[in-house]
Amino acid sequence: MDQAAIDRLAAQPVPKGRLLIGGAWVEGQGGETPVISPIDGRILTTLANASPEDVARATADARAAFEAGRWSRAAPAARKAVLHRLADLIERHALELAVLGVRDNGTEIFMALKAEPGSAAGTFRYYAEAIDKVYGEIAPTAPNVLGLVHREAVGVVGAIVPWNFPLMIGAWKIAPALAAGNSVVLKPAETASLTLLRLAELAIEAGVPPGVFNVVTGPGRVTGEALALSPDVDVLVFTGSGATGRRLLEYSARSNLKRCYLELGGKSPNIVFADAPDLAAAAKAAATAIFRNAGQVCVAGSRLLVERSVHDAFVAALCAATATMRPGNPLHLSTQIGAVNSETQLAGNLRFVADAQAEGGQVVLGGTRALAETGGFYMDPTIVAGVAPGHRLFREEVFGPVLAVTPFDTEDEAIRLANATDYGLAAGVWTASLARAHRMIRALRAGVVHVNTYGGTDVTVPLGGVKQSGNGHDKSLHALEKYTDLKTAWIQL
Ligand code: NAD
Repeated sequence: MDQAAIDRLAAQPVPKGRLLIGGAWVEGQGGETPVISPIDGRILTTLANASPEDVARATADARAAFEAGRWSRAAPAARKAVLHRLADLIERHALELAVLGVRDNGTEIFMALKAEPGSAAGTFRYYAEAIDKVYGEIAPTAPNVLGLVHREAVGVVGAIVPWNFPLMIGAWKIAPALAAGNSVVLKPAETASLTLLRLAELAIEAGVPPGVFNVVTGPGRVTGEALALSPDVDVLVFTGSGATGRRLLEYSARSNLKRCYLELGGKSPNIVFADAPDLAAAAKAAATAIFRNAGQVCVAGSRLLVERSVHDAFVAALCAATATMRPGNPLHLSTQIGAVNSETQLAGNLRFVADAQAEGGQVVLGGTRALAETGGFYMDPTIVAGVAPGHRLFREEVFGPVLAVTPFDTEDEAIRLANATDYGLAAGVWTASLARAHRMIRALRAGVVHVNTYGGTDVTVPLGGVKQSGNGHDKSLHALEKYTDLKTAWIQL
């Protein structure tokens, strides 16, 4: 990778964002909003605000395109070819997309390259390949009848996504939805829309027909709400906060009972037993588990539970490992911790630290804003020890670079503490005991349990939460269940 190429791309002006409705780029009826780069607090460009009327046109066009059948009834092999072309284009424009995304949301460039265009292209390829390999079924009925099970596209999919990994999370939803033959109306986050607008340009270039893929940008409470209330939307797929997830369920109840699949937040426990095979490696992994992308990762290991006999030594090793990770300009290849996404998010992170101290937690590292002179939004990686189950920092998701540390004495206590949260997204367990690892996998209420590692991912492996971390799964063939309906045919022979 070449820093000079990144710098050249980062110096280019960013065109203003418009809406993609029915295959045409249009202005929003709700005016425009400036896009603030978290790198330096400066205005990068503007985004169009889609009004409820704009959203209604987008959903109606999506419905019309679905009914017309140019995409929905095309042979799976034809859709596959278009989605492969889109993956090719994403790869061809990978550096451009990564730099644009970093300027928009502040993720470290070395991570953005891998997690954003890299993962999005792989996701489009995976579902392009899957779609002509998923068959219907013939049920084992009595011999005088035939029970056929068809898998059909659901119709119009509304997708609402967050700001932390917009391309990757967007692709997790758009790729299986399009592969299955649906039309999509996408609503990106206010502070991370630019790469998804560029993706939409590439989708048109790849040959996705007009109206099949639409993008409406704008405020959640206006544009997102209109999409979630739309009678034209059959299924709503969402990644974001629990508070918004609750609203979406209400909108569904108030409108057409559209199905809602929610990928929500986490307060994931990373549990270190004294018998961990390599405590130094565990300390390094615990640091990256919470501090990469400035903690703005849904599965971040944000609660560290450490067996008391190794607690003090482990916290010292963790502080030493973290000391090498400094926040910096996310466009620099050497930066390990990028910017916090917005000023509001930064203020919220600092409030969490103040509340933790007021409740008796001890800040052993960080706790402060960093690089304020840049005008950007940065925070020192922060470790708070002595966090008890009643504390706010133990229960609520920060979605920032703030780690809560809590000691435990027994395996049972570790399980109790780990599960003492409304969330159930991810967990980590560090132990040399195979039996303990399997006991923990069974006992932890989480969608994914990592053992002697933290945060690995692959498009072949489903990601989803339990409890208030949501329902349904992104990635893997299981994701197709959200974008297809079963229809049975009963035939008398
Ligand atoms: P958010 O809920 O504030 O916003 C997410 C999206 O919802 C944005 O596009 C926003 O505009 C839209 N929105 C907001 N209010 C809305 C409304 N009333 N109606 C319709 N749409 C509305 O979340 P965020 O701050 O962008 O993202 C951070 C959250 O996402 C964290 O809780 C994080 O854990 C979670 N997350 C979860 C996963 C996962 O896979 N489980 C992945 C990434 C992020």
